[in-house]
Amino acid sequence: MPGIPIGERARKLYRESLVWDDHSGFDPVGGAHRLEQLQRWSKSGVHYLSVNVGYDVIDWQTSLQVLAGFRAWLQQRPEQYLLVVTAADILRAKAEGKLAIAFDLEGMNALNGSAEMVNVYYALGVRQMLFAYNLNNQVGGGCHDTDTGLTELGRAVVAEMNRVGMLVDCSHSAYRTTMEAMELSQAPVIFSHSCAKALWPHGRNITDEQIKACARTGGVVGINGIGNFLGRNDISSANFVDHVAHVAGLVGPEHVGISLDYAFDADNVDSLVSGNARYWPKEEYKTASLYLPPEQLPEIVETMVQRGFSDGEIGGILGGNFLRVASAVWK
Ligand SMILES: [Zn+2]
Repeated sequence: MPGIPIGERARKLYRESLVWDDHSGFDPVGGAHRLEQLQRWSKSGVHYLSVNVGYDVIDWQTSLQVLAGFRAWLQQRPEQYLLVVTAADILRAKAEGKLAIAFDLEGMNALNGSAEMVNVYYALGVRQMLFAYNLNNQVGGGCHDTDTGLTELGRAVVAEMNRVGMLVDCSHSAYRTTMEAMELSQAPVIFSHSCAKALWPHGRNITDEQIKACARTGGVVGINGIGNFLGRNDISSANFVDHVAHVAGLVGPEHVGISLDYAFDADNVDSLVSGNARYWPKEEYKTASLYLPPEQLPEIVETMVQRGFSDGEIGGILGGNFLRVASAVWK
């Protein structure tokens, strides 16, 4: 892909900023050796990545096995990776030239019906969890299912997440579930990886009302790098920054972040998506998606510079905003 030339201001900004990617999109199943691919993020200048260790499509026991494998693999490479406990660890990783890693769970089937499991996952390095992965579950509604609110268990889970310091994440969940969770949460809430529905009408994208409610909690919307959510399967930096600018224009640039959802195993992920029409309805997932890679991040900075964002705003979008929320929520 021919890139646009990166100017000196964008280079310097990218070099000096904290660079935070709030969600990976590769299949968590298949062995920890696949984490070799994390070098793609390190070499691209990323300092923090949240790695998905499970989603509602797999059972909760598998998520625990993935967590065990990923933790062991990362612990064996302390010169390259840092397993995050507190937000301060991320700045330490940046200073030491390492990639900081925390984990996330996409869907609360992983709780096996028990809110107390939140503290187990937190102790194992999971720092954000979303409610339902596309379909309804025991805690609430998914974005491709009948729009239901939070269940009683869902409300108990929000309280437990607030108590423990786990970030409440509304991506992939149904409208009502997200609005109720944002109303209920005593701490800032994020949409870890969601694009704007006003720019592209996909079921995974979120409305202006959801974006405003997120900002009211003090939270951040991480713009997703998947072509089918950005619209027209267009992963150009121009299209990505259109979504950044939309959210920034609506609620302020301090509520925008980056969450590429990048899948280095795109062929594998595409066959999972096309092979399970329940979780990924055919009308919403007609074509295999393109994925915006971490190597494109400097070009995104250049595009933000060209669109008139200030250095401070760009630094926030690259990582400062998510760091602010993590510092306020994680314990
Ligand atoms: Zn996702």
